[in-house]
Amino acid sequence: MTDTAEDYNCPDCGSPLIPFEDGSCAGSKCTTCDWAVATTNHNTPAFDKTLYTVWPESPTLDRSHLIAKLAVALALKTREAMELVDSGSPIAQSMEAWKVIQLSNTLSLKGISIRVEPTFPWPLAMPNHPDK
Ligand SMILES: [Zn+2]
Repeated sequence: MTDTAEDYNCPDCGSPLIPFEDGSCAGSKCTTCDWAVATTNHNTPAFDKTLYTVWPESPTLDRSHLIAKLAVALALKTREAMELVDSGSPIAQSMEAWKVIQLSNTLSLKGISIRVEPTFPWPLAMPNHPDK
């Protein structure tokens, strides 16, 4: 994985900058101090009118864990989560890009990855896998 954000440093304190996006604003902010620059950026998920379909995908989780975590993350009954997983059904359809990102963030906190079609052009949160 490359991280181009590390090519840039804060002009005030020299700390690494991280990219951020907030609706139609996008920019960079300092990881240490308050320095930030933002511009209206039309090249953001907020302007992506493609509708996506999302499936849960967690090769590192076994079925029962995936069902349990999905149920918690999506506020589903266990039986509903089980049906989703066992049928291979998408957890979301006709979803806008920014909502896919929100969903990805929510699920990644539970260790669940997602598969998105068509190909998703925006960065998605990656689940934190506990070290083995
Ligand atoms: Zn700084």
